[in-house]
Amino acid sequence: MTATIMPTYARLPVSFERGEGSWLWDTEGKTYLDGLGGIAVCVLGHAHPGVADTLARQGATLVHTSNLYGVPAQEALAGTLIRLSGMTNVFFGNSGAEANETAFKIARLYGHNRDIEAGEIIVTEGSFHGRTLGALSATGSSKVHAGFHPLVSGFVRVPFGDLDAVKAHSSRSTVVAVLVEPIQGEGGIVMPPNDYLVGLRELCDQNQWLMILDEVQTGIGRTGEWFAWQHSGARPDVMTLAKGLANGIPIGACLAHGVAAKTLVPGNHGSTFGGSPLACSVAQTVLSTIEEEQLLCRATELGDRVMSQLKQGLADNDRIVDVRGQGLMIGIEMSVECAELVGMALERGLLINVTAGRVIRLLPALNMTDDDADELVTRLLSVIRAFHNR
Ligand code: PLP
Repeated sequence: MTATIMPTYARLPVSFERGEGSWLWDTEGKTYLDGLGGIAVCVLGHAHPGVADTLARQGATLVHTSNLYGVPAQEALAGTLIRLSGMTNVFFGNSGAEANETAFKIARLYGHNRDIEAGEIIVTEGSFHGRTLGALSATGSSKVHAGFHPLVSGFVRVPFGDLDAVKAHSSRSTVVAVLVEPIQGEGGIVMPPNDYLVGLRELCDQNQWLMILDEVQTGIGRTGEWFAWQHSGARPDVMTLAKGLANGIPIGACLAHGVAAKTLVPGNHGSTFGGSPLACSVAQTVLSTIEEEQLLCRATELGDRVMSQLKQGLADNDRIVDVRGQGLMIGIEMSVECAELVGMALERGLLINVTAGRVIRLLPALNMTDDDADELVTRLLSVIRAFHNR
């Protein structure tokens, strides 16, 4: 790796040259099956023809103007997101962290408008919300915080999945919002109890708190619904999106409805690049392709297929603690640290990730073929077996 890139990532010794569907080719011509999709980004896989067409067409028409003017592609995309989510207003940025920063500002303004200065947001242990100062302060990981103190204040931390811990703050008059991921991704594919989001919704209603869901990883069909909260029906007041929204073209979105949608006004937020004609056109293509190809059902089908094969194939492996997930957001928890598996898989032509030290994470494309899904399981089982026999 060249010394000109700041070493913020411990990169694997591979560089990719091209891709097609769920497959990538490295600079030496070796092929890899992509079980990670650029960390939940490439929902339609690589070099998708519809995405490529839109990129070429919009690239040759208009890439960027400014949010000083109307942006029809932005309005069209907002309309689609509103139809799919039941929210009413959208702010576009460029990343998940930026979408979350927007949500924090909405929460603070919401408090301010109710005469609560220095409003606080309840956040959870093990969460991940991004790397900007606000987002890392909301993140529940001392590793992410290390070296960056003083953190942004105004976050109150509780254990994930624990409604009583949230309820315990009901008398705290400075709280204005609760922020959670519906399923923790970086935290290790951690699934909360079934009644968690519905319970949070009730607590937020009782206390006039905004319910904010970070759907940056879980959103855009990943779990088999457009947004993971739709499994429970507990619609948040604010929802953040990024990753899969434009299949790799940078975009982030913060959606709101009700009083939360009325907080931002001209002058208190903005973004130069956010919601460009290019990013929004590609995102529109991604959403319409997911709809036309019924990829929500496909995510559920493929997720069940992969998870049941994994459960079967790993049943006699005493180092497996759990195989869990929803749709194509899958975690395999081991009883030992297993980061080494990533390099072993790479050698065998498979891209996976290990998060939280002991959890293998799979986030493949929603349009994977059955054969590729089966091959993913075959390769992964062989890597886990090799790891086990060491
Ligand atoms: N929120 C969640 C749940 C994420 O998983 C991530 C990234 O992994 C982020 C926010 C940050 O997104 P970005 O890297 O686009 O800023």
